[in-house]
Amino acid sequence: MKLEGIHHVTAITGDAPGNVEFYGGVLGLRMVKKTVNQDDPTVYHLFYADERGSAGSDITFFEYPGVPRGRAGDGMVHRVVFRVADREALDFWEKRLAREGTPTTRSETSLLLTDPEGLDLELVMDHSGDEPLRAEAPDVPIESAIRGFEGVRAYSSRPEASVELFEGTLGFGSGGGHSWTVRGTQRGGFYRFDAPPQRRALSGAGTVHHVAWASPMDEHEQWQRKVAAAGMEVTPVIDRFYFRSIYFREPSGVLFEIATLGPGFTADEDPATLGEALSLPPNYEHLRDKLVDVLTPLPNPRAARSAS
Ligand code: ZN
Repeated sequence: MKLEGIHHVTAITGDAPGNVEFYGGVLGLRMVKKTVNQDDPTVYHLFYADERGSAGSDITFFEYPGVPRGRAGDGMVHRVVFRVADREALDFWEKRLAREGTPTTRSETSLLLTDPEGLDLELVMDHSGDEPLRAEAPDVPIESAIRGFEGVRAYSSRPEASVELFEGTLGFGSGGGHSWTVRGTQRGGFYRFDAPPQRRALSGAGTVHHVAWASPMDEHEQWQRKVAAAGMEVTPVIDRFYFRSIYFREPSGVLFEIATLGPGFTADEDPATLGEALSLPPNYEHLRDKLVDVLTPLPNPRAARSAS
């Protein structure tokens, strides 16, 4: 059994319209699902990904309207790393982000930036050989588009505590130091620990809530048993409608999820119109009219940008 790299990364936004404008507009990802938090249906859960809503490309946000900014600290993911094709693509993003008013730091092989709420992102050149998972934004040339996740970096003050779980149970491959590769038959990515800053961790807008690793459908229950057998406090399998999930906190404190590669975001929407309407899990469908009244209206940056 091998995990197929990152399935999705979920972070927190206090400003859903601004979040849509940045990830769906500036970064050119496709909003593939506009749904509600399954634990609180009065707020959004927003999903941005490639054109098909593929696992491996999917960054998602819980909306807590107006929540103050957090800051990443010990036991939290602090940077999400995406792939782009090559140096020309980095050049493209450097210019585009400057035009959009997003400061960047450029090196030979990477471009660092921060989202409007303080989440650190990085674009790196893709040497993976994995299928590029790209969205078709009207104003981003396809050859420069973001191609899915390369990895995530987290802070840990005791990275050794996680080694046995990672290498013995989860099948992470040691990448040297406190860095691991997580590669299955289709895709891979990296997970890395950095020394934490002095300041206390604070969950809030612009911080990562959890990282999910991808599992083939037929291996998911086995993962649940395997993680439980390793002594982790792991949830039962939870049906998230678009995929099934288990959750556990790895020993360094980062919340992990293992999510299935199916059924996916086309379970309740046509691929052509993914993310355009509000999708509700069947058990919330009867609340649709009420929810539409309380949810924040969102822009459609793709439509706006293709019109201009
Ligand atoms: Zn998740």
